[in-house]
Formats: sequence, structure tokens, C-alpha cells
Amino acid sequence: MSMKAPNIIPTADEFRTILRRRGLKATRQRLLVHEAMMELEHASAEMVKAKLEEKGHKVTSSSIYNILSQLADSRVYSRRPSMGSKMYFDVSGVKHAHLYDRENDTFQNVDVPGISEWATTQIKRRRFRGFSVEDIEIEIIVHPTKKGNKK
Ligand SMILES: [Zn+2]
Repeated sequence: MSMKAPNIIPTADEFRTILRRRGLKATRQRLLVHEAMMELEHASAEMVKAKLEEKGHKVTSSSIYNILSQLADSRVYSRRPSMGSKMYFDVSGVKHAHLYDRENDTFQNVDVPGISEWATTQIKRRRFRGFSVEDIEIEIIVHPTKKGNKK
């Protein structure tokens, strides 16, 4: 359906390098969280906890949340607010577009070449009285076409 852009997801080795550059230690827990995030791509702390438990690792929700928040603050990861109640984290800190399935409250990366650059150029020409633009996110909001297409 959509073209993935796997190059924006850091491998375990790239993750270690990024941590080092940001002055963060490659602790066992951070590496475990990243291992889960490489598979999940977009996930809440609870989803990471469930994935780790599946693999036989026990890490508390608060530790996971702290690690995810710190990685997002350091721009190793990014935050992805959803319309549901969950705070999602994105395994990639690189800007990219998303499909957001609002029925299942899930994200996936989508490759629409040039769209972020195009939007940034368009928006930069505009002035929004009383505001300055902080960021531009491309999010294509969708719902499943077929019944039974739910996760
Ligand atoms: Zn993403």
C-alpha cells in the first residue's frame, strides 16, 4: 500500500552511535527499548512494555516512559500525539510524513517524495499574526476501507 522509508529507522549500531554523539550512555535498558521500538516504529510506553515482556524482559512502565521521553527530548526519537489518549513515540528523529489511521489509532510512515519540503516552502511564505511557526508535520488521516481490516 505505502512505500516505507526504512533508512530513517536507526539500526542498533546507529542507535549506539547517536547516543554517544548526544552524550548518552548505551545502557541495557535503552538498548532494549530501542530493540522494541525498531519493531514497533510508533508506540506508547505501554506498547513497548508489552513488547519487552513478550521477549522476556521486565522493565517498569515509568522507566520506559522516562527513556522514551529522554530520547525524544534529545531528538533521537520524536513525539507523535494521536487523537486517542495515548502519547506515541516515533523511533525516528528524522522528519517524515505519516498515515494516521484514526479508527485504530495507529501510525505508519509514508513516502511522498518532496512533500515536507513543499509544505515548508508554502508555509514559510505565510505570516500567522501573533504566532511564529515552530514545526510542520505532514499527517494524512485515514480510516480502513474494509470491515475486518482492524488490527
Ligand atoms: Zn514515523
